[in-house]
Amino acid sequence: MRAKTKYIFVTGGVVSSLGKGIISSSIGKLLQARGYKITIQKFDPYINIDPGTLNPYEHGECYVTQDGMETDLDLGHYERFTGIRTTRNNSVTTGRIYRSVIDKERRGDYLGKTIQVVPHITDEIKRRIKANAEGEHYDFVITEIGGTIGDIESAPFMEAIRQMRWEMGRDAVNIHLTYVPYLNAAGEFKTKPTQHSVKELQSVGIQPDILILRTEHHLERSVLNKVASFCNVDADCVVQSEDLPSIYDVPINMYKQELDLSILRKLGVDIAPAPDLDQWYRFLQLQKEADKEVHIGLVGKYDLQDAYKSIRESLLLAAVYNGRKATLHFVNSETIDEKNIAEQLKGLSGIVICPGFGERGTEGKIIAASCARTHNLPAFGICLGMQMMVIEFARNVLGFADAHSAEMNPKTKHNVVDIMEEQKQITNMGGTMRLGAYECDLHEGSRVRAIYGKAHIAERHRHRYEFNSRFKDKYETAGMKCVGTNPDTDLVEIVEIPELRWYIGTQFHPEYASTVLHPHPLFVDFIKAAISCD
Ligand code: GLN
Repeated sequence: MRAKTKYIFVTGGVVSSLGKGIISSSIGKLLQARGYKITIQKFDPYINIDPGTLNPYEHGECYVTQDGMETDLDLGHYERFTGIRTTRNNSVTTGRIYRSVIDKERRGDYLGKTIQVVPHITDEIKRRIKANAEGEHYDFVITEIGGTIGDIESAPFMEAIRQMRWEMGRDAVNIHLTYVPYLNAAGEFKTKPTQHSVKELQSVGIQPDILILRTEHHLERSVLNKVASFCNVDADCVVQSEDLPSIYDVPINMYKQELDLSILRKLGVDIAPAPDLDQWYRFLQLQKEADKEVHIGLVGKYDLQDAYKSIRESLLLAAVYNGRKATLHFVNSETIDEKNIAEQLKGLSGIVICPGFGERGTEGKIIAASCARTHNLPAFGICLGMQMMVIEFARNVLGFADAHSAEMNPKTKHNVVDIMEEQKQITNMGGTMRLGAYECDLHEGSRVRAIYGKAHIAERHRHRYEFNSRFKDKYETAGMKCVGTNPDTDLVEIVEIPELRWYIGTQFHPEYASTVLHPHPLFVDFIKAAISCD
């Protein structure tokens, strides 16, 4: 008989941005290394249905699952750490919960009852927490709750967890992540915020089973013991997560403190299979040895680490597998002009032209594409980046001075990037783009086919506009080849200029598919080409 699914809840206290996503991913990784089947999901207490309409300044990158859900960037960590593929069930917001409850109410499903936060909203949260394990068997479902304990909006989630823990007994645990600041003036670590955070959790009926203390410096055992005794937690269930050189060191740090064994014990699993972390250790070793730098420019408009999170991680991982350390330089496309571009790209061995929406910064991306093309600098255009490569080629090689995307200039005659047919009728902005994985045939003799080592791929999309096939012949004749096409619609998904060192644009987002143990081949090859230039 299969063991019952066990539930692990990860909550956060004191401050936000402690890295709950990294901790949840690390726990997933460790349990997976012991042979268990796991999934990780994120429950976010905001009212948007999904983060798809959020500005990256608000919420960082929008990550897209294979089945086309726009989600929180933590799902990217889950996939990169564990290699599992998440779905729309792995990302749930308050907005989605309320929407389904209200839809049920309108249908009359509640048979005349008054609809309330408790039990209707909390029941819907519980139903969704269990949804992944209904379709498929999982040994462990890890649920990360966004926000910080004490937030008004997370209260229904806390109540749902409280109930589940009560109903499930030893089949559910709560892991609480807090922060232990170091006060320079006093020369001391302060555990009071952690004590308060735990008190807050206890006040909603949740006793944490395990505490993880985020800290910038190593904590002595005595500090952990003090927290344990003040918070009613076993001493060996208080672990620390100190700043480390790489986020990928975190699972090992947790492993050394036997976090996974404590979780298993709390869940009533006394004998666990030995973990297999060989490949992970091998990756960390490669990462440690890769000290020679390769400098890559990220040409985009968001000067914010999280805005291009998956691209950044994909580049860093690809560099490790090339024996290098990627140093990423943000090149603000809004400040680029013809005169300063050479200076802005100086010292870089390759550039990524980033995805995006709207006009701001697009002319700079076009100038960067032109500079890379004419100087044979490796360039990787992703989604809007690919569209900018296409526009640049039309303006400067095909001679269409007014070439543009219909997104920026709906009136141009040379709409080399145009709105997709199916997008024309759409008026709602949320969740209506071409989203998720679509198939693509890679043409014989192309570089991309050699890079992937196969003829058919499926990659994730997030866009409304596309390469306008009306101009395809002109491009091909002039040297920009359409080398990847959708088998059903013939949409152009990849362009490349074969005679250049590395000049490839993809309409899809390969960065979503890169994982620690399986870096994406396009990124690996791009970095390889960049290295050959420096
Ligand atoms: N704005 C472009 C489109 O909608 C590109 C989107 C993107 O880069 N993700 O087609």
